[in-house]
Amino acid sequence: MRTVLITGASSGIGEACAEVLASELKYRLLLCARRLERLEELKKKIQSAYPTCEVFCFQLDVRNNKDIETTWGNLPAEWRNIDILINNAGLSQGLEPIQNGNIGDWDRMIDTNIKGLLYVTKHTIPLMEQSKAPHIINLGSIAGKDVYPNGNVYCATKHAVDALTKAMRIDLLEKGIKVTSIDPGMVETEFSEVRFKGDNERAKSVYRGLTPLSGKDIAEIIAFVLSRPAHVNINDLLVMPTAQA
Ligand code: NDP
Repeated sequence: MRTVLITGASSGIGEACAEVLASELKYRLLLCARRLERLEELKKKIQSAYPTCEVFCFQLDVRNNKDIETTWGNLPAEWRNIDILINNAGLSQGLEPIQNGNIGDWDRMIDTNIKGLLYVTKHTIPLMEQSKAPHIINLGSIAGKDVYPNGNVYCATKHAVDALTKAMRIDLLEKGIKVTSIDPGMVETEFSEVRFKGDNERAKSVYRGLTPLSGKDIAEIIAFVLSRPAHVNINDLLVMPTAQA
């Protein structure tokens, strides 16, 4: 059994990763996000489908380094050895030209997508020391490879994730930790609702005219990446809906 920690497991890609990995019956799941009730519902769903799957949920805001430090220190002994970290928590908020940008939105994206990923990684690495196959998976994006109109700060955060993934791969080589970046195009999740602050109509309009990816599409690819033999690392995967240019 390999223990996997998934940040942002309360919806979308993170939730789908929990379900897909649970179905493989070879993972124990540590799930975190701010919405604990959503995690508890997911735990119930997983354990009714796969009664032997061990799941531990806890509330976490990845922007709060002090909380991460305390929470990690208080993890039950049986959950203190981690094999896989999926740095998935993230958001896009506000899609405006830079001259109209909202500084609160910028701060939330930078604090969550960059600093949150760094804090969680920093505190998790010591818990991977015992692992025989340690692996960190960062959720990057097509926005980390390219920029698009009004994407400015979100694209900058995902370019930072791209750089951090490459840097981690070099730094963590001596510890034998694999590092992979998964870079999706458009995935239909709550991401678009968050981006447009609950404006459902605007959120749905993003997918008009093409079939977006699902969280499950990405989760199945992550399960494949994790199933490669020890000498094989998939460094980076760009995964797009067929109809997205
Ligand atoms: P969702 O909005 O469905 O899920 C985002 C998850 O992140 C939620 O579980 C949310 O949980 C969590 N989260 C957000 N902020 C915080 C925080 N401060 N602390 C802890 N958890 C947090 O979006 P997706 O599943 O689509 O996004 C997952 C990742 O995939 C993100 O990194 C995103 O940038 C990336 N991505 C998404 C794409 C898309 O088109 N959907 C495309 C490319 C990349 P809670 O609110 O409960 O805290």
